[in-house]
This record gives sequence, structure tokens and C-alpha cells, in this order.
Amino acid sequence: MVNFKEDIRIGFYVCHCGHNIAAMVDCPEVAKYVATLPNVVLSRDYKYMCSDPGQELIQMDIREHKLNRVVVASCSPLLHEHTFRSATEAGGLNPFFFHMVNIREHNSWVHTDRKEATEKAKGLSQAAVMRVAKHKSLDVKRVPVNPEALVVGGGIAGITAAMALAKAGKKVYLVEREPSIGGHMAKFDKTFPTLDCAACILTPKMSEVGSHPNITLWSYSEVTKVDGYVGNYTVQVKRKARYIDEDLCTGCQDCITQCVFKEPKFEDLFNEGLGKRKPVYIPFPQATPQIVLIDPEVCLNFKRGIKPGQEPVVSDKCKKTCVEACGEKNAIDFTQKDELEEIKVGTIIVATGFKTFEAERLPQYGYGIYPNVYTALEVERLVNASGPTGGDVILRDGKEPKSIGIIHCVGSRDKKTHVWCSRVCCMYSLKLAHLLKEHTGAEIYNFYIDMRTPGKGYEEFYNQLLDEGNHFIRGRVGEVTDWAVTKEEEGKLVIRVEDTLAGVVRRIPVDMVVLATGLEPQKDAQDVRRLFNMSCGSEGFFLERHPKLAPVNTFNDGVYIAGCCQGPRDIPDTVAQAGAAAAEALALIDTGYVEQEPNTAYILADCCGCKSCIPLCPYTAITYDETTLKAVINEALCKGCGTCVGSCPSGSIVQNLFEDDEIFSEIEGVLAFK
Ligand SMILES: Cc1cc2nc3c(=O)[nH]c(=O)nc-3n(C[C@H](O)[C@H](O)[C@H](O)COP(=O)(O)OP(=O)(O)OC[C@H]3O[C@@H](n4cnc5c(N)ncnc54)[C@H](O)[C@@H]3O)c2cc1C
Repeated sequence: MVNFKEDIRIGFYVCHCGHNIAAMVDCPEVAKYVATLPNVVLSRDYKYMCSDPGQELIQMDIREHKLNRVVVASCSPLLHEHTFRSATEAGGLNPFFFHMVNIREHNSWVHTDRKEATEKAKGLSQAAVMRVAKHKSLDVKRVPVNPEALVVGGGIAGITAAMALAKAGKKVYLVEREPSIGGHMAKFDKTFPTLDCAACILTPKMSEVGSHPNITLWSYSEVTKVDGYVGNYTVQVKRKARYIDEDLCTGCQDCITQCVFKEPKFEDLFNEGLGKRKPVYIPFPQATPQIVLIDPEVCLNFKRGIKPGQEPVVSDKCKKTCVEACGEKNAIDFTQKDELEEIKVGTIIVATGFKTFEAERLPQYGYGIYPNVYTALEVERLVNASGPTGGDVILRDGKEPKSIGIIHCVGSRDKKTHVWCSRVCCMYSLKLAHLLKEHTGAEIYNFYIDMRTPGKGYEEFYNQLLDEGNHFIRGRVGEVTDWAVTKEEEGKLVIRVEDTLAGVVRRIPVDMVVLATGLEPQKDAQDVRRLFNMSCGSEGFFLERHPKLAPVNTFNDGVYIAGCCQGPRDIPDTVAQAGAAAAEALALIDTGYVEQEPNTAYILADCCGCKSCIPLCPYTAITYDETTLKAVINEALCKGCGTCVGSCPSGSIVQNLFEDDEIFSEIEGVLAFK
């Protein structure tokens, strides 16, 4: 059983947590039992140990009873370990002479027999008492924080976060992979529910970012490597060749006008493929930066038939009218290559956004089969004054629609695709219904499962749409076909749906179908997750550290998330979250240092240098020292997961706070309890 050690004086506290613990565990009985254990000089039960009086009790007892170890039996260490460590330190002890035992989540909340739960609490408390006797004094180390920040993704989330940091006087690198910042919002004509012009509110922000002295904007660029740890990251950024010298281009666009292709001929992805562009182009009129780029896949100055991934080769076939148009500015450079830049930053905000569900995955809705079936994003461009039709809603077959069906929840709330609600589709469907009616005067039919409009002014907007005479049919659409059964259906698309309110199957003939596709993680979300050492939830969006208490933090300290890369949300929520991520980053930068938990692993002298631990470390904290022929652990990178400790074949890795004698004593404590 437990050996008495004269120099160890343990104070034990069992918390009632109101009724959370006390309803199932007899706390005075546990305190009475622990008081009989060797080295325990004081054992108390108290209603709320986390309260100020509870913490003061610990501090007072440390001083009055000369305690040198403290155990609290209460809730999860995730919630209050820090609280009690601080109380222990305030009492004058090293904070790591404290140990916490969870008798709430691991006991009172999951058991139904009070007697047995009380016995279990005694066993767990005995284990904790035996363990804490073996604890050693540990020091928290401080690492300085580089005050520069990186924001990845230049949608409204990245723009907001970058501006918040820059306005606070911090140097920010904003890396955007497309030629311009703006993200999805740059494609919208109006935004719900106020219907304010998207460009009018976004463009000033884009220009501010583009010209702010504290922001280095690298568009058409991607992060390719991240090394280091919180406060000290080294990041490699690939700057893709635009074949234009960014410093020399004035954005005059003479090169576009003079290009040998007099008419735009190539697929324009900004316009969702509905429009065409030239080989030399600027994605949209308000693009930031206002710098053109050349597409080597289609520009005549590059050799044809180069395989994807191969470097473009200059062929000199074209008359190079763009070069002549550029004249003395001399900004066009066909020999330009991708370049790698290296930057050092202390903190990173990932704001890489979302992609929309691929409508082709649900062939019953006819996308890609019938030309007049559109996705919502395509319609955003169609109703946009700067879109491919200048805002006129002209269908692919050249007609103007007289009737339009909008199908909600395409790829959302469906076990076959995505189970989650994409949160914005009801609202953007209402917005598109309003805009399409405004542009065409057509009859609009909305097919919905449930209308979800939780937001300021959102329900009012729904009511406005009802007043405008739009039709709302409740039911999941079965299919969209062009098979006419009646004369009225001839030449139309027919939407077949079970109207669950009327209890009938209906066939609604329309000229145009709009699919409200849901939001899903970016295609490369897993690669980005690995790059920044983050986690993803089961649906593939980046995972926050805690859904309520740390919604912008990730499990990698110093890396924060903002916007739709964390999950679907509207612009107001995105902006608020980006502000929160910037505030977290600022707090880190302004503190100037980070404190590192000392529960890190270290290598003993008898390491045989087998290197088996190196690939196992999920934080790339272990390297091999060629001079000593032993593994080395970078304390700053180590997160104390214990993987290397468990796997070391020679037992040469030890982890602070989880040393063998600490763990064995704890196990002995549980086993010794009868
Ligand atoms: C059809 C439709 C209509 C909508 N209408 C409205 C509306 O009216 N009102 C409203 O409030 N909300 C609306 N929304 C929601 C709105 O689009 C989002 O709230 C908003 O775009 C989220 O911004 P974000 O910055 O998180 O993501 P995004 O807008 O997706 O921006 C992400 C940015 O990151 C870049 N990026 C991605 N990966 C990388 C990488 N690896 N490296 C560098 N850069 C990268 C992308 O190129 C992009 O620029 C609508 C959504 C849809 C689909």
C-alpha cells in the first residue's frame, strides 16, 4: 500500500459542484476516506471549489498547514486544471505539485448507483493522492512571438482579419491563390437581407487592403510549406507566374484591348463559365490588385501541347501585340517563372473559405443535362451588372424566362450527400427570387424542405418575398425532366415534387431551374489542414478547439480559423468571426511571448538513435542529431501527446508529468483500493 513520506504533505479537496457531483457521490464520505491515507494532512469537501472562496481555501491551507501537494477531485481538467494550478501557485507552491481527478464526467454524470459512484470516487482520489506524491517541480518556459502575421485566403474573412491586424499596427502578409482577393462575395450582385450592392461594400475594403502600408498582398500565390511553432513560423509561399511584372503593370489594360484575339474566346471561370475572356485578362473590373495576367494554356506566345504540371515554353508565334501595347512600361515578361518566397511570422489566420456542392452529383435535377438548369452561383453572375450578360437574364437557349423554379437544399440536409444545413441557401434563394423577379417579372416557385431564416431582418425578408407574390412549395423535389405530359408542359422543364403541405404530387412546368447548392469544404482542405497542422471535423471543415469557448482557435496554438473554412455561415457571421480571429492573434502578438506547458517529452542519454520516433511525431518535433547520433526533441514543437514515449523501443523517451513512477503510482492507487 501507500508508503508514508515525511516530507510530503498533501491537501485534498472534493467538490460538490452543486448537485452535479454531490447528487451521485457522497462527498463528505470521500473526504473522510482520503483523510486516512498516508501523507494526507488535510481533506475537505466544499460546494464549489472553482469559486473564489474555494480557491482561497487552497491558498490559505497551503500556508497554514504547510502543504506541498494539492489534489482536487471535481470536474474535467480541461475546464479547471488551469484554475487550480494558479491557486496552488498563488499559495506559494510550484503549480505542477497539483493534480486533478475527474469525478464528474468520469463518475457522477455517468453512473446511477450512489454507493458505487462514491466507492469509485474514493478509488480515483486515492490514485491521485499517490500520483501527486511523485510529482516534480516544473518550469513554464517563455518563447518570444514574432509580431508579423500571415492571413491565408482573401475572401471577406481574410480581408477583415488582415485589415484588423494592419490597423492595429501589425505587419500582415495576405496570401490569396486567385489573381484577385474578394472570394465568393466578389461574385454577388446584392447581399441579403438588405439587398445592398455587394461591390459597393466590398470594393472599398479590397482597395484598403491593396494599399495599406502594413499589408503585403500576394495574390495568385499559395503557401507550400510551414515550419516552426507558435510565435515563430517559417512559411514558404509560391508566387505563381503571371507573366506580368507586378511592379511595372499599371492596370491600364491596353494589352487586353490590343491582344490578337479580338473577341474573348476562352472559358471565364470568374463568371462560372458563362462568359469568355482573352488569354491576357483581369478577372473582374474591381479586381485587387489591378494587375493583368496571361494564361499560358491559351496564349499564342506559349507552345501548345504542354502537359499539366510542365513548365510553359515561350514559342514566339504571336505578333506580341500586347507587348507593343504595354510599350515603355515593359511589364510583360513571358520568361517569368514561379517564385518561392520565405517569410517569418508569429501567428497565422486560415480563411480559405468554401466551395459549392457540385450539382452534377444529383443528375435527377438535370444540371449539365438541360441547358436551362443553373446553379445559384451562375445566377449570381447572370443578374450582375458586371456579369457576362450585363445583368440581363438571358437563358442558354437565348430566351428570357417567364417562370423559374428555385430548388433549395441541393446537396444539403440529405444523408446521400451532406447531412448538414448550409445555413445560407434559404436566404440566398430568397435573394435570387427577388432579383430574378425584378429582372424578368417571371413567376417564381421556391421548393423548400424547411425555411430557415434565423438572423437579423431575415424573417422580415422572407415575409417581403411572400408579399411580392412568390410561390413557396414545401417538399423535396423528386426530379427535373423535359418530358411533357400536357400541352402546358411542352418546351418546358417540369419539376416533380411531393407538396407535403397539400399532400399531393405536383408537376410545375418552368423555363428555368435554379439549384441552391450547399456549401462544402474546399477540395484541398485536407492538404491545407496538414500544412497548418490543424484538424478537420467529420464533414471536412476545419475544426475549432472548442465549439463554444474557443471557436476561432485550432489545436495548433498560434493558428486561427475564420469564415466558411470552419463551416457554412453568412457574411455578417464571417466578418464577426474574422474579427475574433484577429483579436486572438493580436492578443498573442501583444503579449510578446508564449508560455509553454512543460509536459513535453525529452530524450535520455541511452537513446540508441534508431530514429523510429521521428516519423511518428504528429508535430514534427523530433529530429536526429548527426553528431551525438541521438534523437532530439524540440520542446517548443512538442505538444506532449506521448506517442514517441509509448513507441520508443529502448524506453529512452520520458515525458514530464507522465513519468513512469507517476503513472505506476496512480495505477497502484486504483488497484490498491478495495
Ligand atoms: C450563391 C451564394 C450566395 C450567397 N449570398 C450571400 C448573401 O447575399 N449574403 C450573405 O451574408 N452571405 C451570402 N453567401 C455566403 C457568403 O458567400 C459567405 O458567407 C462568404 O463568402 C464567406 O467568406 P470567406 O472569406 O469565409 O470564404 P470565401 O468567400 O470562399 O473566400 C475564401 C478565399 O480564400 C481563397 N483560398 C482558398 N484556398 C486557398 C489557399 N489554399 N491559399 C490561398 N487562398 C485560398 C479563395 O480563393 C477565396 O478568395 C452566399 C453564398 C452563396 C454560395
